[in-house]
Amino acid sequence: MQTGARLQYLAALGIDTWLPRQAMPNPAPLAEAALPEEGLSPDWQPLQTEVAACIKCDLHKTRTRTVFGVGNPQADWLVIGEAPGVEEDRKGEPFVGAAGQLLDAMLQAIGLARGKNVFIANMLKCRPPGNRDPKPEEVLSCMPYLMRQIAAIKPKLILAVGRIAAQNLLATEVPLGRLRGRVHHFGPAATPLVVTYHPAYLLRTPSEKRKAWEDLKFARDYFKQNFSADY
Ligand code: URA
Repeated sequence: MQTGARLQYLAALGIDTWLPRQAMPNPAPLAEAALPEEGLSPDWQPLQTEVAACIKCDLHKTRTRTVFGVGNPQADWLVIGEAPGVEEDRKGEPFVGAAGQLLDAMLQAIGLARGKNVFIANMLKCRPPGNRDPKPEEVLSCMPYLMRQIAAIKPKLILAVGRIAAQNLLATEVPLGRLRGRVHHFGPAATPLVVTYHPAYLLRTPSEKRKAWEDLKFARDYFKQNFSADY
């Protein structure tokens, strides 16, 4: 991991880091979007079109835009959050608000950047009004889209952020705190899945940020040991 990225995340976590003045690196540059066309699943474009026109549940009546996801559709890492919020609904991109900035810093700390080597999606493609929790029937009707995204991306590791994503993906009501720290498996490909706290929760509960950092290191180390030493 680049020192600059780690420092940015630790700073975002509110953890002070001391370095000799001359060793202070520049902030890590955000990766440019470079999306490979070759090898892209033939389902990707049709899926995007279907999601944009979706009227499978009532959320289509109140949404401004669908939020398909962002990043590299051939990434090894897939981050799954809960549902678009007010800013995401406006922009059509996941995690663009304050929680998104923290998520980006968290990902940067383990060498990931949206648009480069990670894809970011949500359980739901449309915003639940008033940012309420997704209803079970909304999760059910949106799930096939997520399954097709996972089938197309073929991620090596899924990072489920927050209780809603973790419990729905793992079909459990076990509290998030007890799902942390181990590797689960998801779906037909038994994709390894690690859970951590939602960045919005971390903004409200800064005392949990250290645990989130442990989760990220756990996920990164699992990935390195099993798939690649340098990603
Ligand atoms: N929270 C989420 O879970 N997803 C978003 O896209 C934004 C906020």
